[in-house]
Amino acid sequence: MRPVVIAHRGASAYLPEHTVPAKVLAYAMGADYLEQDVVASRDDELVVLHDIYLDRVSNVAEAFPDRHRDDGRYYVRDFDLAELLELRVWERFDAEGAPVYPGRYPGRTGNFRLHSLRTELELVRHLNTSTEARTGIYPEIKRPAWHRAQGIDIAPLLLELLEEFDYRNNSDPVYVQCFDANEVVRLRRELGCPLKLVQLIGENEWAESETDYAFLQTDAGLQQIAAVADGIGPRLEHCMRVSGAQVRASGLVERAHKLALAVHPYTVRADSLPDGFSSHDALVTFCVAELKVDGLFSDFPDETRRQILALEPASRPAAPQ
Ligand code: CA
Repeated sequence: MRPVVIAHRGASAYLPEHTVPAKVLAYAMGADYLEQDVVASRDDELVVLHDIYLDRVSNVAEAFPDRHRDDGRYYVRDFDLAELLELRVWERFDAEGAPVYPGRYPGRTGNFRLHSLRTELELVRHLNTSTEARTGIYPEIKRPAWHRAQGIDIAPLLLELLEEFDYRNNSDPVYVQCFDANEVVRLRRELGCPLKLVQLIGENEWAESETDYAFLQTDAGLQQIAAVADGIGPRLEHCMRVSGAQVRASGLVERAHKLALAVHPYTVRADSLPDGFSSHDALVTFCVAELKVDGLFSDFPDETRRQILALEPASRPAAPQ
């Protein structure tokens, strides 16, 4: 099976992440899956946005100057969907106000907006109808424990919405992903999620959840994941060992495959390569030919897809006679 391309926050290298234009572009570029990060509004609507915060990607501080919390941050959870839809969205800035990825769609201009998960699911359904494609979706439940402490439980709402859009079986084109290992177990065992599940693997110092990501990468950790999930989403760096210009497999992908887990590492960025690689194509070639990954999250779905297809034996042109 050809490795799948998961458009990370849409075609986020080219347009502001998680906007409808970024999703449409990724769709047109032939991504196999479009990723949705899912957070909740004050009126309990599911919204597509990477963070629980609004301030690094929108004009929220200008539009609603008094609506930050004591830490100075503006939280999606403190705004109704109708208010969120009023915001303008732009490229991602860091805490100092500098672009995180200089060279991408620049500045604080344009008419880009947030949207609900429902809007995106409708978009994908309609595009799949009009193009006769079967592009999949890849929703991530963001910070489930934090959201519950804020009075909302995202997982059941997400599963209900996915069922409404006819995502009902393990064979349907959807992966549900989460960093929180307790939530992945709960999705399968308590909530009876019938869909493919992916356990994301981060770094303990990110404090993303209480999950021990070092343990998850051990054989015992992978066995625990395999009991409930269909795949893992590790960092690219988890899958390789780099010393100088030499890069070799860490063994994680191979050990996961022995447990029948699919492996979809994140994130391929042509403008921010991991150590040991000098080009996007070299990175993708290593991931496909050496690591034998089953898919890649990419900010550059067009380039990643092109290189994956170039590596397919069947797609190579015949040698001249
Ligand atoms: Ca994500």
